[in-house]
Amino acid sequence: MPEDIAPALLESIRQDFESNLGGRQRAVQLLEKIQASGANYADAGDYAEEVGAALADAFRANLSSAALPDGRMYWNIADRVVRPLLEQDHTLVAEAAQTVQQSLNTAAGLGIRPQPVPLNESRVEGILNKISAAEQYDDVAWVLDEPVKNFSRAIIDESIRRNVEFQGGAGLRPRVIRRVVANCCRWCSNLAGTYTYPDVPNDVYRRHEYCRCTVEYDPGDGRRQNVHTKRWTTASERDKIETRKKIGIGSGVSLDNDKYVIQDEKISGYLLKPGAKHAAEFFGVGYSAEDWQLLNSDIYEQFDESRKTDVRILDDGTERFSIFMTLGKGKKKRFRTVWQKEPGEEKPRLITAYREDTNHEDI
Ligand SMILES: [Zn+2]
Repeated sequence: MPEDIAPALLESIRQDFESNLGGRQRAVQLLEKIQASGANYADAGDYAEEVGAALADAFRANLSSAALPDGRMYWNIADRVVRPLLEQDHTLVAEAAQTVQQSLNTAAGLGIRPQPVPLNESRVEGILNKISAAEQYDDVAWVLDEPVKNFSRAIIDESIRRNVEFQGGAGLRPRVIRRVVANCCRWCSNLAGTYTYPDVPNDVYRRHEYCRCTVEYDPGDGRRQNVHTKRWTTASERDKIETRKKIGIGSGVSLDNDKYVIQDEKISGYLLKPGAKHAAEFFGVGYSAEDWQLLNSDIYEQFDESRKTDVRILDDGTERFSIFMTLGKGKKKRFRTVWQKEPGEEKPRLITAYREDTNHEDI
């Protein structure tokens, strides 16, 4: 049996990737800027480009038909060499995107967590399929060059998309600004502009190969739209909002949002109230008595009515159901959240939440 070259190949590409990245002055400067909370998404996009380029260079230096059995990138080699490196690229860039989004949220006074970007499995599969389909790797080596940089930049675009949609769904009014770089192309010129949620065409988050156009997130003017009436809160209503903030309706996800209603006192005056029935369970996973906004945002994120379970219809037609969620600030644990929707009500309201481990398949 021929020697398995995959482990050594992976190791030498990984080493080159890391030393390339560390040796790229621009990459180092951008990462410092990102970590110091001074970066925007254009910086994150440039950082993604640097990571992608460092990886593409490492692929080029180590991979060729001469280095592969029969000159070919067999699937099992691609799967064990190229895949983990694309995953590493993803992790680095997705972390940078989260850090940037966190700084932008904080700067805008939004108590909302950044939405993470999952690995785009189908893109990874697409790249692996392409390089393993050719008889000779050298014929398809280009696939591990520009498409890898594009893969890397797309993580940033996807981060903007997820965060804009999440914040828009929560009643905020984020904007997306797309700018053409270097007279990119006609398609990009037509796409350039400022878009306000929900009127953001999906193409704004897409880019063709060699496109270096920038996409920026803007939290908007801070006004929040009532997602049901589509009415903007006016300046005269701001004072009221300020008052409401103090009693438990923050600038992040509203307690009364597009998915559900939580009564003002339910979180701060019950779930997170020291001494209350289930408070210790929430404190045990890191929440403090002041974290009502974060807890609401975490509940909002995981509230998915299609995952409801233990549905009961009471005699008066009220529907009661549970949704299991994984909640916590550091170490997360499972909680049962219980909801109730009275006849005629359009949204369910939170009844209680408490720790409960479960073996349900769908958790
Ligand atoms: Zn472009």
